[in-house]
Amino acid sequence: MSNAHVVEIFSSAQGEGKFVGCRQVFVRLADCNLNCNFCDTNFTRTNFCRVETSAGSMTFRDEKNPLDAKRVAALIKTFCDEVPTHSVSFTGGEPLVHADFIAEVAALTDAKIFLETNGTLVDEFKKISAAVDFVSMDIKLPSVVGRDLFDVHEKFLRAAVDKDLCVKIVVTGSTTDEEFLSAIELVANVDEKIFVVLQPVTPVNNVPAVDAKKILQRQATALRRLPNVRIIPQTHKSIDVL
Ligand code: SF4
Repeated sequence: MSNAHVVEIFSSAQGEGKFVGCRQVFVRLADCNLNCNFCDTNFTRTNFCRVETSAGSMTFRDEKNPLDAKRVAALIKTFCDEVPTHSVSFTGGEPLVHADFIAEVAALTDAKIFLETNGTLVDEFKKISAAVDFVSMDIKLPSVVGRDLFDVHEKFLRAAVDKDLCVKIVVTGSTTDEEFLSAIELVANVDEKIFVVLQPVTPVNNVPAVDAKKILQRQATALRRLPNVRIIPQTHKSIDVL
């Protein structure tokens, strides 16, 4: 049985994207292969995983890391028994760093599997694709990660297009017209019906916010090429839930 370093496990409402507001169990795995300038997520390995004491209590106890797949599946079941749950979100960090672990947990749970990914680990995704029901995939713009990831994003999108798929693009005040258009074109070339969320950045690390007119302009640009483009900010922060 495989194990993984888990940062936290809790039950809350999805705060981003197409399934905003849905009740989920979140399994936040340690480690990430990128370094985004707006990242405010703790994905460092620690000796202990914090586990919510009951669904939605927002109080935690510690469990020793790493956790094995059977233990994580048991915790998921406990939360799902407490509150009817849409799906289990494997998030991070980048959860696909632990692809084998996710597949093993998925095999031990009846819950639907929701993957929140930065859309770069294509081979890892292909390995576990059959176990995944929902994919929320980021397109990381060059102004965010300091390099062009469009080729790998396109490969990932093609591998995930048969899933219930949502693409999220975080838009900042530094987003350029050129990179934004490239991202939209990339999605349109794979499948024009893909659901796209433009997420105005929650300013952090001196990353500039995008102003109201600009985000509406970006949506208008995208809608000329794709029918399903919505502006959805991070909602969990506004109601102060995890
Ligand atoms: S991919 Fe996600 S977790 Fe990793 S650095 Fe970027 S924002 Fe942070």
